[in-house]
Amino acid sequence: MIQLILTLLIMTLTSVQAQNFKPWQTNIEKLSAFEKHVLINKGTEQAFSGEYVHTKENGIYTCKVCDTPLYKSSDKFDSHCGWPSFDDAIPNAIKEIPDKDGKRTEIVCANCGAHMGHIFKGEGLTKKNIRHCVNSVSLKFKKENNDTKKIAKAYFAGGCFWGVEYYLEQIKGVIEVTSGYMGGKVKNPAYYDVIRKNTGHLETVEVIYDPRQVSYETLAKTFFEIHDPTQIDGQGPDIGSQYLSAVFVKSPKERKTIKKLINILESNGLKVATKILDKTPFYAAESYHQDHYTRKGGTPYCHRRVKRF
Ligand SMILES: [Zn+2]
Repeated sequence: MIQLILTLLIMTLTSVQAQNFKPWQTNIEKLSAFEKHVLINKGTEQAFSGEYVHTKENGIYTCKVCDTPLYKSSDKFDSHCGWPSFDDAIPNAIKEIPDKDGKRTEIVCANCGAHMGHIFKGEGLTKKNIRHCVNSVSLKFKKENNDTKKIAKAYFAGGCFWGVEYYLEQIKGVIEVTSGYMGGKVKNPAYYDVIRKNTGHLETVEVIYDPRQVSYETLAKTFFEIHDPTQIDGQGPDIGSQYLSAVFVKSPKERKTIKKLINILESNGLKVATKILDKTPFYAAESYHQDHYTRKGGTPYCHRRVKRF
């Protein structure tokens, strides 16, 4: 009997593990013993021993486990502490966790949880007064070159950003989609200001994509197919100015593309409510809004794919 219970328990655990399998898990198996010691078991490399202590080249530092961009070289500074130091991280890329002893605060990759190092505030070393003290071995450096320069951005507002992010992230050639706010008058708006309609922002996603793999037009077509561009007061059950349909354009070329697509939709009998607006500053939403459906499971409640082109 005990054996049966144990077998059942092991089967349940195995199936839970299978369900929670993340794409970067195979990368963990490829790490060296020392990389595992730092990234997984929260170890620390010796001061001045890491390969990125003194690097000054332009580029991006990504997580060694899941390859998510975490730090920009423009935020790196020489703290003389012996570990790569940054006074800022890419928005929502890093999660802070207080150490059990209450003395220090650990920093981990917000996407996969890999250990990066610790964060120190109030040391007065830079204007931002923050030091992300990161193990070199936790990072991968990607030098800026023609490849990284060929990354482009696009901005779409189509109701609740969770659903727009969910669908656009599935397109091949899309590197990252961030939920956020655009089009308002206030700097750094918070979610609860936006939903009270105090700021004038629209829930908007920023799409970072590789134009060699996917065109702006393909992204825009998908945008028009995953939401209802004819709804004038919001999207689905979400009613209000923050949920309006809009495309924020950065160039006359993008404007022309959107106009062309709207013309096609209108010639097919749709009365399109989507506004074409000039791009304004984009503010990433709070981390609990990012990758909502990937983290929580389920599928969007107010977006679905409808073939329109
Ligand atoms: Zn990671």
